[in-house]
Amino acid sequence: MVRENILKIRSTLPEGVTLVAVSKYHPAEMIREAYDAGQRVFGESREQELRQKVEVLPADIEWHFIGHLQTNKVKYIAPYVSLIHSVDTDRLVDEIERQAVRCSRTIDVLLQLHVAQEESKSGFLPDELLALLDNTDIAARWPHVRMRGLMGMASFVDDQEQWRKEFGIITATYHRLLDGPLARHGITRDQFSVLSFGMSEDYPVAIEEGSNMVRVGTAIFGERNY
Ligand SMILES: *Cc1c(COP(=O)(O)O)cnc(C)c1O
Repeated sequence: MVRENILKIRSTLPEGVTLVAVSKYHPAEMIREAYDAGQRVFGESREQELRQKVEVLPADIEWHFIGHLQTNKVKYIAPYVSLIHSVDTDRLVDEIERQAVRCSRTIDVLLQLHVAQEESKSGFLPDELLALLDNTDIAARWPHVRMRGLMGMASFVDDQEQWRKEFGIITATYHRLLDGPLARHGITRDQFSVLSFGMSEDYPVAIEEGSNMVRVGTAIFGERNY
C-alpha cells in the first residue's frame, strides 16, 4: 500500500516539488517500505521517536523535523537533522545556532508562519517576521543557521477557498521578505527558496498557490494511531 501511495502521489507532483513523507506515529517498517519505493525525505514531529528511527533506518535518509520544537530538545536533533521546518521564535534560532556550533555544522531551517484561524497553531505573524528580520543582523547573530524559506499550515476546515487565502498569505509574505529585509541582508532567492505548505488534504491546492515542498502523511501511510 505504502509503495503504491508513494508512486501515485509522486506521479502527480510537478517537477521541483519535494515530497516529505510524514512518518510520525508510524513504525520503522513502514518507513522502510517507502524507502524501498525510492523515498528519501521523511518528516517527524517528536524528537524521541525520531531518534529511535534514525538508529535503525538507512543513513542516506534526510530527516526533516516538522513539529513544534522546544528549545531544550534542539541538542538531540542538531547532529543529524537536515531541515527544521517549524522555527517559530528568535530564541529558538538562537538555540539552533548554539547547537550547530557545538556540532561543527550549519543547520538549515524554515521559518513558520501563523496563517490559520486556530490560535493553537504556532508561528510568526507575517508583520512580526518582517520586523524581526529587519531588526536583526542575521549573519552576525546566526552564522551557523541557514534560513531556507517558509513553512505554514492552513486551517483545519473543509474549505478550499480558505486554504487558498491562507496559502496566499505565505507566498505574499515570502515575496515581501525577499524584496525587503532579505535583500538588504544579501540573502537571495536561490538561498531562500523553500515554500513548505500542503498536507494530505490540501497539497494540490498548496501547489497551485506556490508550494514547492509538501508534507504528506495520511495519504501515504494511512491514519495515525495517537
Ligand atoms: C502531521 C503533519 C503533517 C501531515 O499531515 P497529513 O494530514 O497526515 O498529511 C504535515 N505537516 C505537519 C506540520 C504535521 O504535523
